[in-house]
Amino acid sequence: MSGIHAKSFARRTGLCEEMSLMKGSLMVVTDGQTMEGQACFSQESVDRLVDASPLPSMVRGACPSLSTPMQTGDGLLVRLRPTTPGLTVAQFRALAEAAETHGNGLIEITARGNLQLRGMRPQSMDGLAADIDRAGIVPESGVAIEVPPLSGLDSLEIANARDIANHLRRAIDALEPKPLLAAKLTIIIDGDGRLTLDGLSADIRLRAEMSGSTHLWSLAIAGTAATAKPVAAALSDEQAITAVIALLKSLVEIGPRARGRDLDAEVLREQFQFDEAKMGNARGPSISAVGIIQLDETRNALGLRPSFGQIHAADLRRFLGVAEMAGVNEIRTAPDHAMLLLGLTPSTMEHARTTAASCGFRTRAGDPANYAIPCSGAGACASAHYATRQSATDLVDIAPELLDGSLKVHLSGCGKGCAHPGQTMLAIVGAATGYGIVVNGSASSEPVAYIGKEKLKSALAELGGLVRNNKAAGESAQQCLKRLGRDAIATALRQG
Ligand code: SF4
Repeated sequence: MSGIHAKSFARRTGLCEEMSLMKGSLMVVTDGQTMEGQACFSQESVDRLVDASPLPSMVRGACPSLSTPMQTGDGLLVRLRPTTPGLTVAQFRALAEAAETHGNGLIEITARGNLQLRGMRPQSMDGLAADIDRAGIVPESGVAIEVPPLSGLDSLEIANARDIANHLRRAIDALEPKPLLAAKLTIIIDGDGRLTLDGLSADIRLRAEMSGSTHLWSLAIAGTAATAKPVAAALSDEQAITAVIALLKSLVEIGPRARGRDLDAEVLREQFQFDEAKMGNARGPSISAVGIIQLDETRNALGLRPSFGQIHAADLRRFLGVAEMAGVNEIRTAPDHAMLLLGLTPSTMEHARTTAASCGFRTRAGDPANYAIPCSGAGACASAHYATRQSATDLVDIAPELLDGSLKVHLSGCGKGCAHPGQTMLAIVGAATGYGIVVNGSASSEPVAYIGKEKLKSALAELGGLVRNNKAAGESAQQCLKRLGRDAIATALRQG
């Protein structure tokens, strides 16, 4: 009988590991076995448990949306990605008003650039949906197809990813029968440019590469630009769409929960006659989404980041009034918890930036706070073991040496890692008895050290001191920590 570990169950259900194991100790019984510790269960049993979960909005695969909001510590949470590339100022204002009227007013931009509204109650959902509809905001549904936020505007973009995404969407919509795909399945189409999606993971990813005076696409599965497995190269627009449709059909054959990682890269390479020599060169890192971004010789965008990814609707509305007067005509959300303002002129840019800073936005790429990544944390999420946002503030005050822009510090209330699903150089993960410190891993990775409940501030001070006292001339915090290694980091933490 094929089995699944309790940890896998926790991941499948989307519940925090602690909750699932706790649930196990409360005698979740299936196939005559109890869900605890190392217990192993049949796949069928887990499927039944997942399907029968009394908390459908917390099941992994059921993305929170207007129709299926997710229960969190501060009420219901709605995540939405508009079908349009951006929103007008009036639409953003309507969204802020709706967040205040129907929720607790907190608005977040996620690591993938989605909008989140928090603190709704079941009886407020109809009103919220009506207000969003009245504002002309249409949330995207179906397979998530993500493109760089500046696609179509960026003069360095090799191919218009948004055009290909629209073609692909139509091709998917035309499929009969309609494909049953995993709810969290994500396709990234990256036309290159100043702001790429290289750091985001996807099940399927297309990447544009220059070929003479035109562009071709490479196709990869399951990962970020650095970790995904390439399966096809030198595809025309049409071939790229056909290849993605073929992958979606393969996923359908595997099953409705299948993800890119379930595809066999070797089989696909044969299928697409993959020739590694036709792959383009690795490209440089994406620029920061925060600060002034040049689009071409005459146009700029202003990138802002709500402090620690979250802003109150009242502050947002205050800023939008000034932004509108300054000429902003469109606002696009962007990965890394950012939003991009379009329509500003050189003469209005600085005023908008100064006002944004006074309303709770980070406005400069080098701001240390941009590199502290907390999840919602205690007070907003019932699974959180600590107040991640307060600790992020402490981190900026106590150990700015760590936040020089070369690395991110992920402050995760539990092992689920909502704020940064990928790896970071440092992650501080809340646990029942204190904190696990992960080096070069995700929130669910094995920590190099554990520290007690009262020790976080002193541990942060030790880490900051480690970099301050050991950094060679010209070395970044990341290079310094890499050189010192995990053992030195663990020792510093134990001294904290
Ligand atoms: S990572 Fe943070 S927001 Fe996500 S479930 Fe854990 S505590 Fe909650």
